[in-house]
Amino acid sequence: MATTTGTRTLHHWIGGRPDGTPAARSGAITASATGAVSGHVPFAAAALVARAVAAAAAAAEDWGRASLGRRAKVLFAFRALLDERRDELAALIVREHGKVRADALGEVQRGLEVVEFACGLGHLLKGELSAEVSGGVDSYSLRQPLGVVAGITPFNFPVMVPMWMVPIALACGNAFVLKPSEQDPSPSLLIAELLREAGLPDGVFSVVHGDREAVEAILAHPGIAAVSFVGSTPVARHVHETATRHGKRVQALGGAKNHAVVLPDADLDLAADALVSAGYGSAGQRCMAVSVGVLVGDVAVPLIARLRERIAALVVADGTRPGADMGPLVSAAHLERVRGYVERGVQDGATLLVDGRELPVDGGKGGHFIGPTLFDDVEPGMAIYDEEVFGPVLVLVRRATYREALDLVAANPYGNGAAIFTNDGGAARAFEQEAGAGMVGINVPIPVPMAYHSFGGWKDSLFGDLHVHGPDGVRFYTRGKVVTRRWPDPRHRGVDLGFPAEG
Ligand code: NAD
Repeated sequence: MATTTGTRTLHHWIGGRPDGTPAARSGAITASATGAVSGHVPFAAAALVARAVAAAAAAAEDWGRASLGRRAKVLFAFRALLDERRDELAALIVREHGKVRADALGEVQRGLEVVEFACGLGHLLKGELSAEVSGGVDSYSLRQPLGVVAGITPFNFPVMVPMWMVPIALACGNAFVLKPSEQDPSPSLLIAELLREAGLPDGVFSVVHGDREAVEAILAHPGIAAVSFVGSTPVARHVHETATRHGKRVQALGGAKNHAVVLPDADLDLAADALVSAGYGSAGQRCMAVSVGVLVGDVAVPLIARLRERIAALVVADGTRPGADMGPLVSAAHLERVRGYVERGVQDGATLLVDGRELPVDGGKGGHFIGPTLFDDVEPGMAIYDEEVFGPVLVLVRRATYREALDLVAANPYGNGAAIFTNDGGAARAFEQEAGAGMVGINVPIPVPMAYHSFGGWKDSLFGDLHVHGPDGVRFYTRGKVVTRRWPDPRHRGVDLGFPAEG
């Protein structure tokens, strides 16, 4: 039963200031480690979204024309503020999401690195020039901002995922409307304050809170040119279809079922460390979590022994507690869902090696805790294999050969990340070429690209053409223009209705 202590009511952020317009609907924010209600978040209706878009549109023109130097100055200042206030951001993440403090600080760091990438906007926005494409004629390309763009983000990275989008969109000269997850919305308001303090003009960044109603209003609003979405696959598919129908550019990143293939020649201590870290970090609530271990040949017995040893040593506790390895899940509803998957795994005939429902957890009463869970003898057709559990549930599938393991990865509808553990360079290279996923790790379980590369999956893990941040992010938030230029000179030949026959 949720308790209420010292709650606060959040506000939207429109036109560079808090907007406390009373909402017809709102949601409760719970502290994941205790289940206590820590606040309420207003849910925007279409009229409020329209107001945020109007403020963004009014600001977008000037911001789009601001010199590169002026935009870079704001981003550099924002980077410094994020660095200074990283503890505060991490504390908000720990309270509302539940991940442990070190993990929350890591999330802020990843976001900060995207800001650093965006600070190089002068380089990123350079066009190309071809001199003398015809007599006295040059041709060159420009990339221009889209205007107002929007981001809709999930609960599991309340700082990093908005940061995948916002710094690059702003660097490219757009105004941005963010609809963060209603489950952990507070960090987005601190980000808004920091952007204002950094000198971002009013209206260039807005936050509208809400649920499905706010999302639908964003998808249909004619003043929004592009939508970046990150969340579960069914919603990603819906967002892609709906926003595309409304004529918008869309990138919609969805869910995942990331496989880690362990070959018999792998360093098994390294592989066991990696599977436990990537399976249970953030209580499995990462889109790049390893949720399937594919054990090839005779690797199962020695690897499982190592996994058990490491799992037994994990400390599951309130994320603020020093020494905690893994915190609670984000909500009571999600905890029920994950417990349901464990039950279905048993019913479907998988072997439950470690039951997280029984592990003692050192958390507050009412917190959304479940311990690390390990299943063996899992096969496609079982819900714990087929569906994204998004909890600390690692499933093991056994296969006789590399080829059979690869076929499993290929047949899976998701394609976010895939990893291989081996000391065989040839096998690793074959996997790198053949694995059907957008991000591949070789002896690296969570192969998240750095900010200067782009992040994105294949198949049902991404709808749209361009990945986020890195070079794809710059392409996504700009549109191309090619100028063909001649300055009149003595070679001008007067009126000529034909295509030039020669240069
Ligand atoms: P979610 O799909 O429930 O919510 C994401 C966003 O969509 C939120 O802002 C939410 O308010 C909104 N939303 C929810 N239901 C909606 C609906 N029916 N119509 C319109 N909008 C709706 O996802 P979540 O539970 O917040 O996040 C976890 C999911 O996100 C997992 O599936 C995870 O794999 C995925 N994820 C993917 C990536 C990636 O890069 N591919 C990264 C992070 C998270």
